Amino acid sequence: MIEGISIDFAQLYSRFEAPIAAFDCGERCAPHNANGVPFCCDTRHAVPTAYDAEWVFLAENTDLWHPWQGRSEAETRRLQKETPDGMALLECKGHCLCQRGFRAITCRAFPFFPYITRDDRFIGMSYYWQYEYGCWVISNLQVVTQKYREQFIAAFDELLERMPEERESYRHYSSSMRRVFGRSGRAIPLLHRNGKTYKVTPSNGRIRRVDVDRLPKFGPYHLAARLPFADEVTPA
Ligand code: SF4
Ligand code: SF4
Repeated sequence: MIEGISIDFAQLYSRFEAPIAAFDCGERCAPHNANGVPFCCDTRHAVPTAYDAEWVFLAENTDLWHPWQGRSEAETRRLQKETPDGMALLECKGHCLCQRGFRAITCRAFPFFPYITRDDRFIGMSYYWQYEYGCWVISNLQVVTQKYREQFIAAFDELLERMPEERESYRHYSSSMRRVFGRSGRAIPLLHRNGKTYKVTPSNGRIRRVDVDRLPKFGPYHLAARLPFADEVTPA
């Protein structure tokens, strides 16, 4: 349980409102999801969470959200076990009824999380690699605007300072990413807080500058990028 935090979520939301890209990235990924819903708004792929205090704020100010019900007891138990203390699993009314002003922090941040080094520095953003298969942004990091990057960093500077448990949780997650990527010989893409893009070598933490346009693509976006007129490709 995160106790004693006092965060003004209305204020925080107003400072973390920039869209990831200059266009609606949901239109790029949704055609690749069987039900036509953006992957991050489909609870079969990702169940949003909110900090307990954030959930209180949302419940008082919008009817957009309700506690997540789960489709089976086993799934509910598994996700509750994976959810950090002080967070609630939620579900919204659906992407057609989204209220942008009341998106949870997890919606605003997706697919990114604050990357924390072995020596405990929050140096930038990396992404939840489990969603490489579906999230179009992960395969197209060049579209992420500087404004979004700046707002993300500022929001998490505040959150991590106010919630040491949250910092610890992302430190642990960053460490897992180093382990997973290290095992498969991959470097970790990093949108650095200095505005540039790097790859991190998992074994020693060394960073080297990369051209964001040359980062790898995954799943259907990997195939699409190899076709002529790739920008115009959408599934039938
Ligand atoms: S963040 Fe990723 S999964 Fe979510 S709408 Fe954009 S491309 Fe789709
Ligand atoms: S609130 Fe909006 S962005 Fe968040 S999961 Fe629902 S539809 Fe998606």
